[in-house]
Amino acid sequence: MVAVSYPTTLAQALDTLASGEHILFAGGTDLMVRCRVRPNVPAEFHHHVVFTDRVAELKQISPAMSADGNLVRIGAAVTMAEALRSPLVPNLLKQSLSGIAAPALRNRATLAGNICNASPAADTLPPLYLLDARVVLAKLGEQRTLPISEFILSPGKTALTQGEMLTHIELPQPSELPLCHYHKVGTRAANALTKVAFAGLARIEAGIVTDWRVAFGAVAPTVVRDRALEALVIGQPVSQLSHPETGLCQELLHAYGQVVRPIDDQRSTAQYRHTTALNLLQRFNRLLVS
Ligand SMILES: Cc1cc2nc3c(=O)[nH]c(=O)nc-3n(C[C@H](O)[C@H](O)[C@H](O)COP(=O)(O)OP(=O)(O)OC[C@H]3O[C@@H](n4cnc5c(N)ncnc54)[C@H](O)[C@@H]3O)c2cc1C
Repeated sequence: MVAVSYPTTLAQALDTLASGEHILFAGGTDLMVRCRVRPNVPAEFHHHVVFTDRVAELKQISPAMSADGNLVRIGAAVTMAEALRSPLVPNLLKQSLSGIAAPALRNRATLAGNICNASPAADTLPPLYLLDARVVLAKLGEQRTLPISEFILSPGKTALTQGEMLTHIELPQPSELPLCHYHKVGTRAANALTKVAFAGLARIEAGIVTDWRVAFGAVAPTVVRDRALEALVIGQPVSQLSHPETGLCQELLHAYGQVVRPIDDQRSTAQYRHTTALNLLQRFNRLLVS
């Protein structure tokens, strides 16, 4: 028989987690699918369950300061719907959140659950990689902060250790670059899981690209973001990105063609994903000059 805890403070949650193996339950939208044995039968949990949705400290979205500047902190129990309503949440992240499933699911599901699920197709991950998000992890008496790219290890696997939980997501500011673009390719608008996802951010000043970042989801075991390739674009005239036949565009298509390595699965073929990912890259570049 599993025990169920409903802590109302972070200290209570960490105490409970320290007492043995537990499952953290945020919105439950992944867990209820994963732990359901058959349709119409209640989900089965093999460990004690700790609900996070009553922990006051985890329900906030707030500005904060750190050694390297201003931050936005998003608590682990903040739902997607709440994040969508907050003026502090960057537009790029909102673009990805608004395309996730349907409003009913977004009223329950959290950003933290989407991250900890560590799916290659999780919609919030490409924006979070581009925004240089960090995750704050806590266990009894300890706290550490990791870049999201070090937290997600492989499909379904994160750097969380026994007794540890994600408490906050931190987004360095300024994270709002003038041009941001998220595109999810799925079978239909609502409740479609992603076949390929693309996120792009850029800043153009006096015709020169002064910031340019792109990331792809569902085309590799974890999100693809390549800072060395981004550095090729920064400092170039934006006109270099307007025609697919320019040297820079060709170089980018060739290089991203090597790092984007999708697989065939029930949702799509590798070939379709590969071609689509490169088309989305070209489309983003064309948007910058239009
Ligand atoms: C019909 C349907 C449609 C969906 N559509 C999409 C979609 O379009 N795009 C998409 O990306 N996803 C989609 N999902 C997946 C899911 O809704 C998301 O991954 C969601 O963000 C999970 O959040 P949650 O709060 O419900 O997590 P939960 O199910 O509660 O938890 C997910 C995982 O995270 C762990 N966890 C939760 N909180 C913490 C914490 N604070 N610290 C450590 N671990 C924690 C849990 O233990 C569990 O392993 C869909 C799911 C369904 C059922």
